[in-house]
Amino acid sequence: MSQASPDELRLHRTGHISHALRCLSGLPGSLTSLDSSRMLIAYYSLSILDLLDGLSEKKKVIEQCREWIWKQFIHSEVGSGFRASPAVCVDEHAETPSSIDSPHLIMTYGALLSLAVLRDDYSQLDRSGIKRLLRSAQRPDGSFSGVPNEGESDVRMVYCAFAICTMLDDWSSIDIDKAITFVQHCRTYEGGYSQVPGQEAQGGTTYCALATLYLSPIPARLSPKERVQTIRWLAWNQDSGFRGRTEKPPDACYSFWCGGAMKILNADGYVNVAENARWLSACQFRYGGISKNPTETPDPFHTYLSLASLAVYQPKVPDDGDAGPGFDATWQLPDHDLLINARRETAEWALLHIPDSPRTESD
Ligand SMILES: [Zn+2]
Repeated sequence: MSQASPDELRLHRTGHISHALRCLSGLPGSLTSLDSSRMLIAYYSLSILDLLDGLSEKKKVIEQCREWIWKQFIHSEVGSGFRASPAVCVDEHAETPSSIDSPHLIMTYGALLSLAVLRDDYSQLDRSGIKRLLRSAQRPDGSFSGVPNEGESDVRMVYCAFAICTMLDDWSSIDIDKAITFVQHCRTYEGGYSQVPGQEAQGGTTYCALATLYLSPIPARLSPKERVQTIRWLAWNQDSGFRGRTEKPPDACYSFWCGGAMKILNADGYVNVAENARWLSACQFRYGGISKNPTETPDPFHTYLSLASLAVYQPKVPDDGDAGPGFDATWQLPDHDLLINARRETAEWALLHIPDSPRTESD
């Protein structure tokens, strides 16, 4: 890549903070298709603000977000958890919730971390209800579906289940061995992991698989031979940033998925940190936000994952008097919890403040 100008090598922090705040207050027209996943939009937007210290003195935003998130916490026959959005509620006055107005594993993962960003005390959490949700979402093959007995079940949901169990510090409601066997069956001949067994390896699902195996309380790590094969596949997908699949163009989110997977395997020495930061710099939108590549419009998903990648792979900021490679102090970001995928202090908040034995515990 040619030498970038100093301005290209600035992280546009204030623009990204504005982008996140805009997405929290109402989705821009280009993103209205994501309305049915509003909890994830909130999670990514809040996590952007968390990494950039953009929530200080934003008491009103914090209060509004807390209130909105807790309104999505619902109870059902299959357990309790967070739903994606009030948009999926067909009839708010119905006596029993509709099958699509159900707690969802991915949304529950995102909501628990969002509440940690907001430094909530989790006093409204129905812990035994979440454990019931986890139990009813696990399938006979060990995988999990987002909503019990419905829809897709794959390695992304297994990751969310393991992250939730980590935050609850309680694994008693799931069959860990079966879940690990499912993840191992997603391994492909290339060394990456697919969404379900028999499909093509992909960067996002490879991160989910590895993070699952490394969160597991039962030892489930890769053999030395498997580790080398996986590192080779991930390194092969490194371009300016990273590709998600063999022969695809690079996409900003894979700087976290593939870069994070390499870090889990202690192979971060193979990542070209300066090139990764230059690529993400080029994906920045001039009015804030980061997009999947330099020609697309930004969204909170790619903005957050790019920042998370930069938190894991910090470009070298030169000491005073050293021109260095052009990166400046705007690139300094806080420590990141790689397996939970949150600012380290935020992940620690969740682990410390999700109550151990609340009044509602009944099983
Ligand atoms: Zn992407």
